[in-house]
Amino acid sequence: MNPAPAERMGRIYCPDCGLAQTLPPLPAHSVAECGRCGAVLLRRIPGGAGAALALALAAALLLLPANLEPLMVVRFEGAERYNLTATGAWALWNDGYPGLGTLVGLFSVAAPILWLAALLPSLTLVLRGRRLSDGTRSWLGWLFRQSLRLRPWAMTEVYLLGSVVAYTRVRDVAQVEIGFGGWAFLAFALTVLAVDAVLDPRAVWRAIGPGSVAGSETGDVIDCHGCGLMAPLTVEGARCPRCGTALHWRRPDAFNRTAALTAAAFFLYILTNILPILSIVRFGRDEPSTIFAGVRELIQLGLWPLAAIVFVASIAVPLIKLSGLTWFLLAIRRGFTRQVMLRTRLYRFIEGIGRWSNIDVFMISILTALVQFGSLTRVEAKPGAVAFAAVVVLTMLASRSFDARLMWDVVEGSDE
Ligand SMILES: [Zn+2]
Ligand SMILES: [Zn+2]
Repeated sequence: MNPAPAERMGRIYCPDCGLAQTLPPLPAHSVAECGRCGAVLLRRIPGGAGAALALALAAALLLLPANLEPLMVVRFEGAERYNLTATGAWALWNDGYPGLGTLVGLFSVAAPILWLAALLPSLTLVLRGRRLSDGTRSWLGWLFRQSLRLRPWAMTEVYLLGSVVAYTRVRDVAQVEIGFGGWAFLAFALTVLAVDAVLDPRAVWRAIGPGSVAGSETGDVIDCHGCGLMAPLTVEGARCPRCGTALHWRRPDAFNRTAALTAAAFFLYILTNILPILSIVRFGRDEPSTIFAGVRELIQLGLWPLAAIVFVASIAVPLIKLSGLTWFLLAIRRGFTRQVMLRTRLYRFIEGIGRWSNIDVFMISILTALVQFGSLTRVEAKPGAVAFAAVVVLTMLASRSFDARLMWDVVEGSDE
């Protein structure tokens, strides 16, 4: 087999620091990083889109048993219960938390299905290799853009970890077995992660085309926030010819929106550390439990790694996100230029890690569905769970609406 030749990549605009740079020809299996801030600009994986399509098809097949077969089967005092992926959402809805139930249903069932439904036809059409008509191109660009937007909200791998935590807590009070659906869900989650590993969205965008907008080869440029297409600054306000997103110099209203979402999340974060998130009712006795108490319980069971994961995901990560975003906003407002690299790295970390905070939300939904043995033992969700889910969603929205390039604009402004 001949090695894939180095590919010309042309001019590219860093989504994190806003530096326009011309990349050298890139050999196969290599990664191009921004010369200024180290952001991964593109990964060159020959055959990546084909492998991603094969894996996405496998994921679609696994989706059926993962959603229709029991994940866990619990036995307690002669009674038996099992859960499906959707029953957690349903149990929360019936328990008087319709909003929380809807969120859990969206993250664990609807978003993964919609993500695959958008990704599969996008990759199939791109890989057919025929010239795309303009109509197909714009429709395809829109569809692929939706798959990228849905991906962070498709929390399959987070749900898996939530299930592991729920499993250990159920084992504490009853007999529990992993069902066929549980193993299928594990395989589904691993396949989804494999799709991420082989798919470079920029390669798909280049296949959809166009590769550039006339006038973007030199001079001041902007890039599309949807697909990264570079365009000359003069077309600001127009629609991207590739994915249909409105072209802007910086994310519109990035500062104010991030500030409002961060402030609201801070307030709710305080509540989540005080209010109980769930309650275990044993023989009529109500034992409310906070996030912190859950961590303590895992430690008492000797499950240190799991306790560490829940502590980091539920307590540390939201705090790091909120403090980080506050720091970024202050730096922009006050014109701080020092440590802009550290801030940019922290921003990338925050963007990547945010969704993992949902472990506890999923754990609660699973326990509420599984541990329902009348007056003997029963788990109920508590208002703290609603506040906590709101913190996760608000911080995710805050970091997504933030534009790290505003921090670099301050640095560039101070150089002049
Ligand atoms: Zn950069
Ligand atoms: Zn675009």
